[in-house]
Amino acid sequence: MVPVITRFAPSPTGYMHLGHAFAALFAWTAARESGGRFMLRIEDIDPSRCRPEFETAIYRDLEWLGIDWDGPVRRQSDGMDDYGDAIRELEKIGLAYPCFCTRSDIRAEIKQAGHAPHGPDGIVYPGTCRGVTDVDRRLRIARGEGHAIRIDMAKAVSFTGPLVWYDRAKGFVDADPLSAGDVVLARKDVPTSYHLASVLDDHLQGVTLVTRGNDLFHATHVHRALQALLHLRVPEYHHHALITDANGIRLAKRNRAMTLRSLRQAGKSPAEVRAMVGFD
Ligand code: GLU
Repeated sequence: MVPVITRFAPSPTGYMHLGHAFAALFAWTAARESGGRFMLRIEDIDPSRCRPEFETAIYRDLEWLGIDWDGPVRRQSDGMDDYGDAIRELEKIGLAYPCFCTRSDIRAEIKQAGHAPHGPDGIVYPGTCRGVTDVDRRLRIARGEGHAIRIDMAKAVSFTGPLVWYDRAKGFVDADPLSAGDVVLARKDVPTSYHLASVLDDHLQGVTLVTRGNDLFHATHVHRALQALLHLRVPEYHHHALITDANGIRLAKRNRAMTLRSLRQAGKSPAEVRAMVGFD
């Protein structure tokens, strides 16, 4: 078996629930069974939703479950320089542009166009700011107008040509980054985005096998394009099913009874909780 480097990348926006336990054990087991490494990453780019006590609870819950990790923990809030460098690289080759739209601008544009193109991640950005001239961009930025940075995905795809990734559950998958449109690389309020930070960090942490839930399968189309454009290592993927309760309902963070913390307080042992998500 080839040793793999996997990771668990929770966002500290709430207490870990059984779904997190499953995802962490899935990645940890894949690493340990292969004699590889297991990395931990805290995806805390959103200061309005992330809280230090949730980060502390993540460490506590993982240790309690018997999950150890290798190397230093990567906190995305410490990685802004890396993300900024990557954005500049994409800007230099003309693939990133400032987007001044507000949510209501986007809604209005879509209404006017009479149809709302949908991608797997919701409404696809209609491209309003792609056509803003360079002079106007500079003027608006100089005036202090808030802006996100988006990728010009059609142009990006013309640079990369066809792309493929290997998924342990699905085999070879043709990447279709255009399905997501011009996704955000840096938000108005935060100088990065989930897509950019996740892809760069997987590279920087040496990850060779990305395991995560099927709910993020669509994101891999975008990630594969960013890897090609930024010359990053291409990991294998294993998108797994999400665990559900007895009624088939997905375990959500708001299902408080199912947080690891509350299960621990109710007297469950780590072995019992591991068994609840199929790792016994
Ligand atoms: N931070 C994401 C989450 O908690 C995981 C992202 C990933 O695995 O790529 O859902």
